Amino acid sequence: MPPESPPNSPQPDAVTERESLLLAPYAMNSADSAGRKYAEPAHSYRAPFARDRDRIIHSAAYRRLSYKTQVFTGELGDYHRSRLTHTIEVNLIARTLGRALRLNEDLVEALAVQHDIGHPPFGHSGEETLDECLRDSGGFSHNRQALRIVELLERRYPNFPGLNLSREVLEGQEARAERESRDRGPLLETQVVDAADSIAYDTHDADDAMELGLLQLGELLEVPLWREAARRVNSRYANLAGGDLRRAVLHELIDWQVTDLLAESRARIERFEINGVEAVRRGPRIIGHSQELAELKAELETTLHHRVYRHPQVLQMRGQAQSRLEEMFAGYLHRPELLPEAFFARATDFGLPRTVGDYLAGMTDRFALREHARLFARD
Ligand code: MG
Repeated sequence: MPPESPPNSPQPDAVTERESLLLAPYAMNSADSAGRKYAEPAHSYRAPFARDRDRIIHSAAYRRLSYKTQVFTGELGDYHRSRLTHTIEVNLIARTLGRALRLNEDLVEALAVQHDIGHPPFGHSGEETLDECLRDSGGFSHNRQALRIVELLERRYPNFPGLNLSREVLEGQEARAERESRDRGPLLETQVVDAADSIAYDTHDADDAMELGLLQLGELLEVPLWREAARRVNSRYANLAGGDLRRAVLHELIDWQVTDLLAESRARIERFEINGVEAVRRGPRIIGHSQELAELKAELETTLHHRVYRHPQVLQMRGQAQSRLEEMFAGYLHRPELLPEAFFARATDFGLPRTVGDYLAGMTDRFALREHARLFARD
């Protein structure tokens, strides 16, 4: 393996110049990056965080997000979000926030495209099942799995395992995985991606649930956040109804959340005198909503929790997904020779349960269903 890189690899003048023109003092400058684990020469014109973003998008794990469940499985229809389209929407919102706050957009994008890359098939039910299966081997979380993927499991370069991403991109994911136990606060670029994730799923899970008929527009209009958004929309247009109202409210909700987040975050930057990255690391959480909107969002989340995530149709899909994953986990443990060769070989280093977990977590929903039917279905 090549040696670890010096903390500050020299970078092209064009990148330094561009960032010094565009970035706010509290943004993460790529010249201040702690660098990569394995030494690599700087690219002649691409900034390091832009390379990180591109490496993630070119990874197999990223492409597989297109056939992974966000909330609703692919069997239910073609309208709703997959893990990939959710990721793209998070990236768009995060980049808008990052640009408005003059943060490092390359880093924001790298963190956004990485944020859900560790999800196993079948959404959160898949995650719970793998966590249960791996209980005696350290458990499973999609946030930690993302780190295993980018540091170890992706094999795209001859000299090192993983994608050899910049320290700050890994650190952003570590913050998602550990959250409370860290003594250094996350960079604003990381905080912006967290906020964009919440804006995206709070808005789109409701949209998807309505399209699938699990939730009616009338029910959502009783939730204060939706009621207020509908009032705003109807003050601009003459009494919209049905699909027109629904789409207009969705636009309004995203715009309202983004505008509120920017105003509140800018106020906190000023109030806490956030004048550089060190102040960000020491300071309280900066990127956040006003108390009013945070409360309205929490009410919507309660409704989504009861009416969507625990809808009988969703629970039934979850049950099926869980039993299939459990059978596959037990099946591969029992017959490890069924694993692809590269995984089989890795079991020596990481133990069989973790290796089976890695293999199952990497599967798309449809590949998992196919392999289950081929190898483990009971007739
Ligand atoms: Mg997400």
